[in-house]
Amino acid sequence: MNTSATTAIANTASTALSARIRDVQEATRGVTTLYPRSYILQCIKEDRFPDELWQKLGEFGLLGLSVPEEYGGSGGGVLEITALNEALALAGVPTLFLVVTGLGRVPIMRHGTPEQIRKYVTPTCTGEKKLCFAITEPNAGTNSFAMTTLATPDGDGWVLNGQKVFISGARDADYMLVIARTTKAGEVKHRTDGISLFVLDMKTPGIQLTQLNIQVETAERQYMVFFDNVKLPADALIGEAGKGAKLMFEGLNSERLLAAGAAIGLGDYALAKAVAYSKERKPFGKPIGSYQALQHRMAQAKAQIEAARLMTYNAAERFDAGEDAGAHANMAKLLGSQAAVAAVEAALQTHGGYGFDRDYDIITLWPMVRLLEIAPINNEMLLNYIGEHVLGLPKSY
Ligand SMILES: Cc1cc2nc3c(=O)[nH]c(=O)nc-3n(C[C@H](O)[C@H](O)[C@H](O)COP(=O)(O)OP(=O)(O)OC[C@H]3O[C@@H](n4cnc5c(N)ncnc54)[C@H](O)[C@@H]3O)c2cc1C
Repeated sequence: MNTSATTAIANTASTALSARIRDVQEATRGVTTLYPRSYILQCIKEDRFPDELWQKLGEFGLLGLSVPEEYGGSGGGVLEITALNEALALAGVPTLFLVVTGLGRVPIMRHGTPEQIRKYVTPTCTGEKKLCFAITEPNAGTNSFAMTTLATPDGDGWVLNGQKVFISGARDADYMLVIARTTKAGEVKHRTDGISLFVLDMKTPGIQLTQLNIQVETAERQYMVFFDNVKLPADALIGEAGKGAKLMFEGLNSERLLAAGAAIGLGDYALAKAVAYSKERKPFGKPIGSYQALQHRMAQAKAQIEAARLMTYNAAERFDAGEDAGAHANMAKLLGSQAAVAAVEAALQTHGGYGFDRDYDIITLWPMVRLLEIAPINNEMLLNYIGEHVLGLPKSY
């Protein structure tokens, strides 16, 4: 697959930044050469987790990106793990699990005790353990603060009851970072109060999973998760009880960047397929790529991808520097997901009828890029954020 476009933009960024991105890209190519898109499509067909890919990412030290070396990681920050997600997507191997692992580890690393980091984060660096993330609830939906999953004190620890939905990779995960209320929504002064973060061992009795029938071409399936008197030890709580909202947003900002990385990588992947096809296909004797109706559509998508990429890595740098990267992360995910949709749309148009043949692997990309406009957070909420927090406009909802 042609990745020259990615290299080009890396060269236009600062030398140090481009070297960081390039190093990750090169190492990732070592893995995706062994486990290309055909491998991930086979795993999807067999409904199984891509264990071999995951182990290899661990062996190459890639899963340890963003985790300090003292905790068994490979160092770097959200920028490096975003670059990994982009590089995987660029090879047609997007993984939602990396998004949720990357996001879930952030609050644990920033606010967990050294023991918690060693217990919950360190084994994820080799692939020995996997971490999923659960915030969405059936009734609350986008309005996470309306969640009703409740953890109540129980001896030294807690007992968890409630329900989450759409949880990616819950079947394959060893741990789940659960966002729950420790005080009910109706009993707090401010809706952000009373939220807490817990790491749940998936083997704990009382957890029940129901697989959802979601059509997105990734190896991770989504689950409805029920908690019925699930006992949590004291060390399951990350940070202070009731003060988890800020920690949650730190994680969610990194998730936006990981999602943006996946979007721009997939966009470039689709575009490279469109370019290659449009050079060969000649129904009127000339390559269809020479027709401006198609060429401009591809060029427009490329420009959108590059703009989103600059925004993504700029936001990641800010995040890693400890700045408030909320606005930039939201813009990066908004622009990245729109660029990816534009690229897949261009690829679909370019392929004509063949674009709808699953074997050409264009229509198969569409649900994933369209998903990125809705999850992990819908673009309307990102626009709301920009409207309210960047432009200072009144809240509409
Ligand atoms: C494949 C997949 C994987 C997922 N993985 C996970 C996971 O691992 N963990 C997890 O916790 N969740 C996960 N999710 C859930 C995902 O984050 C939610 O679906 C998403 O945040 C939207 O919530 P909802 O579906 O309840 O939509 P709703 O809240 O019902 O919103 C529906 C639509 O209404 C509009 N809307 C809603 N509120 C507003 C507003 N205030 N202003 C303007 N428009 C608005 C938006 O267009 C939105 O798309 C996943 C979802 C999918 C489909």
